[in-house]
This record gives sequence, structure tokens and C-alpha cells, in this order.
Amino acid sequence: MASQLTRSQPDNATAESGLPHTRNVTIYGAGAAGTILALELINAGYEGGIQLLDRRQHFYREQRWCFWGEAPEVLSSLSRRQWPEWEVVSSLGRRVHGSPSTPYQEVYAPDFYQWAHHRLQQHDNVSFRFGEDVETPSLNGAIQAGETLVDCTGYRETGSPSLWQSFLGWEVISERNVFPSDRATIMDHRAEGPGISFGYVLPTSTKRAFIELTCFHPEMQDATVLEPYLQRYIESHFGRVTRVERVEQGCLPMQVEQPHASLSSNYYCIGAGAGALRASSGYSFLAICQQAKAVAQRIHAGHGECWRRPGKYALLDQIFLRVLRSETEMATEIFDKLFGHAPTESLIRFLQDKSSLSDDFRIVMSLPKRPFLRALFSNAG
Ligand SMILES: Cc1cc2nc3c(=O)[nH]c(=O)nc-3n(C[C@H](O)[C@H](O)[C@H](O)COP(=O)(O)OP(=O)(O)OC[C@H]3O[C@@H](n4cnc5c(N)ncnc54)[C@H](O)[C@@H]3O)c2cc1C
Repeated sequence: MASQLTRSQPDNATAESGLPHTRNVTIYGAGAAGTILALELINAGYEGGIQLLDRRQHFYREQRWCFWGEAPEVLSSLSRRQWPEWEVVSSLGRRVHGSPSTPYQEVYAPDFYQWAHHRLQQHDNVSFRFGEDVETPSLNGAIQAGETLVDCTGYRETGSPSLWQSFLGWEVISERNVFPSDRATIMDHRAEGPGISFGYVLPTSTKRAFIELTCFHPEMQDATVLEPYLQRYIESHFGRVTRVERVEQGCLPMQVEQPHASLSSNYYCIGAGAGALRASSGYSFLAICQQAKAVAQRIHAGHGECWRRPGKYALLDQIFLRVLRSETEMATEIFDKLFGHAPTESLIRFLQDKSSLSDDFRIVMSLPKRPFLRALFSNAG
């Protein structure tokens, strides 16, 4: 059932006063962005009402959020898996990267929601309305005085992305010790599949791992298309598995043009639907955490900047996507050069949206020049 909202004109008075706010905050969408925002508000000591709305009744859907480096402070007591080493594999060889200070980490979504709901339930000013479809608010809509609305309803299609990232993953158990438990495989180009496909392996022990087939393709690929490729990849490289325990699947748009986090004194929009998705990789979890922290600060203290990804990444990602789209057959070489020649720390900062100009220079120098020059000129033209 869609619930209707009555709204009046935005009220800027409290925002300008600089006093901590105690308005009611309604968060539309209690996924990663909405839930982390509620946690950030609580951590900041916000005393106004916080209502989380979601069409989902249950939050145990299979999903994991991975990223490099330190977890945001708000998640510091949440248990996470970490891999101090990660690798990229192709027929040309295996590139192993070790980064103990910035390990590859996983937040397992069902654990996160259980932990977060438990924490939020301990605060009387937090309420939940789950299992209901709601009409999402808009910046131009009227908002009741004393109310703040935050749209965290996730990705919405805007235009047609030139590439999609589709993936299907299984958590599998093997009879033999086939997985290196302290090393994640970020890309294995020996995997076959539609478009640019690669395997992704997150071992949790020598006998258990989450194994995914990811593909970049102009069309979305559903699970039935990816399944035989995933099965073949697993059998060819890890042998027979005894059980498939969990299944994760998804599709992410790889596009630079995305709506950005909106900002007014009483309406915000954050998450995958508001500029957090990194166009060239689909990573967005750390960006979502930064958006949530910034918006919580705005709501609580009445001031502060809204997080935005530095503009250079839009240009770099656009060129990268153009190359992947037009020079598909070079993808393995491009990824191999990128992960083989760029210094690990520069690469991680680049993937975290934190690279310096000299990091960017090192990344660019690691890539094959000709396809990128062609893409740059076609960009200019
Ligand atoms: C399977 C998968 C794996 C991913 N893995 C990674 C990863 O490893 N690392 C990374 O950085 N990023 C990853 N991403 C990308 C991104 O981090 C996630 O998509 C992230 O969940 C986005 O958070 P969000 O809060 O913006 O959207 P969501 O988490 O999708 O939350 C949106 C919420 O809004 C609710 N909602 C939507 N519309 C309505 C409505 N009308 N009424 C009520 N409720 C509504 C939905 O039910 C949902 O709970 C992954 C994405 C997917 C799909």
C-alpha cells in the first residue's frame, strides 16, 4: 500500500540558526544508506524522531559490501571479514597485492542489518515501518514544518547505461582444501561469460568460499544466463563442490551521469540513487558511508558540507568505460596492466576516490596508451 505524505514549503529557519535540530527525520529506504544514516544520527546524539520506512519486511537477502581500507567509525564494532592479500589472475599470470594497512573487507548485509536494528531499537526516538511501499519524496514537493525527509531508496534508472555490471555468486563448500583463506581474488580472467567476464572469489576457509561470475555487457544478464558459466568456472578451477549454500545476484549500471546527493535544509537524497555508485567499478559502500555521515552532521548540527565525489573521477571513468565498450578484446590486457603495473597503494586510493594527482598519473601510466588516446579523442569529438 502506498502511503501519502502531506507537505508544506521547506523551512530554512532552523538550519540557519546553527542550533542542533530536533525535527522528525523520515528516512525512505532502510537499505545500506538509510540504515547507516540512522546509525550516524544516533551516534551524533540526535534526539528528534527518526523513522525508517522500507517496502522490505525482512533484511536477510544475500548481499555483501566489500571495500578496501578502514571501516567507517560507525561500523567499527560490527564484525567483518578481511583479506590482507588480494590478486588478479589471467592467462598471463597471477598478480598478488598485499596491503595490510588497507585490507579488502566485507560487510555481510544480513549480519549488518541484525546488528544495526538491534542498536537502533535501543533508542526510543527510532521507529520502523517495514513491509510497505511508499511514495518517495522529491525536492520540489512540499515538506511539513519541523520535518526532514531523506530519500535512500536506491538506484533508479536514469537514461540507458552503455554498460551493465551483472553478477551471480554462490557460497560453496568443497571437500578438499582448495581456497587460499587469506587471499581474495578480485578478478580472474580465466572465467568465461558474456561480454567482459571474470571470476571473483572470497574464501572464508580453505574449504568454503563465495564465488561470483561478474560480467560487463551492454545488456543486463540475468542469473539463468550466468549460471552455466559460473558452474564451469568453479568446476575448472576448484573442482567439484559438495554444496551451494547461498546465492547472491545483482545488476549495476556503469554510467557517469547520475543524480547527485541533493541538499536543502530539510530534504536530502543519498545512496546508490544519488551519486554514490562509482561508474567504472560499481563500488559505492564507502561513498554511501561518507554521504550518510555528512548528512547526519547537517541534520544534527545544521551545517556541514555534503559529500560529493571529486569531479575528476567522472572524466576518468567515462574514458575507461568508453575503452571497455569499444575495445572489449583488450579488457584482460587493460586490467592486467592496471593491476600489474600501478603501485598497490595508488590503485587502492584511486578505487577509494582518494587518489592524489600523482596517484592518477601512476594509474594512467600503467595503462596501454593507444586505446585510451583513441577514447580521449572520441570523447573530445
Ligand atoms: C548484490 C549487490 C552487491 C553489491 N556489492 C557491493 C560491494 O561489494 N561493494 C560496494 O561498494 N558496493 C556494492 N554494491 C553496490 C551498492 O553498495 C549497493 O547497491 C548498496 O546496497 C546501495 O545502498 P542504497 O542504500 O543506496 O540502496 P539499497 O541498499 O538498495 O536500499 C534501498 C532500499 O530502499 C527500499 N525501497 C526502494 N523503493 C522503495 C519504496 N518505494 N518504498 C519503500 N521502500 C523502498 C528497498 O527495499 C531497499 O531496502 C552492490 C550491489 C548489489 C545489488
